[in-house]
Amino acid sequence: MRKGKLFPVASPYSVISHRPDYRIQATGEFRCPNKEEWFISGAIPEGYQAPNDLSTPYYIGKLVKVKTTVVETVIEENIKKWEREHFCLPCKYHFTKEVEFSEFTQNLSGEKTTFCPKCNKRVTMSSPAKEV
Ligand SMILES: [Zn+2]
Repeated sequence: MRKGKLFPVASPYSVISHRPDYRIQATGEFRCPNKEEWFISGAIPEGYQAPNDLSTPYYIGKLVKVKTTVVETVIEENIKKWEREHFCLPCKYHFTKEVEFSEFTQNLSGEKTTFCPKCNKRVTMSSPAKEV
């Protein structure tokens, strides 16, 4: 077991486990836990506190407080353009069109209103924009 690895506090310790910022951190030791020491156990490993000195060896842990941080990673660069599929309800024409933006639009998104290239009516059914 990797030293420093974090495990949830097992549910019997509801006072602690209901607080999402507490974890049991592996110390790297594997031995019999002493009374009140935390250890890691279970098919889905969680942290338990020894009610007395135990005679079975476990991975030892300690109670720590954590802070969750969201990490944003760029997974793709050079995004070129977006397009949507449109379906014209009046004339049943199906077409794909690049998403265009305009300063002169009533759409909150800033997206230019799409008109059907066949009948020139406003398009009423459109798919979510997808990268192309
Ligand atoms: Zn149409």
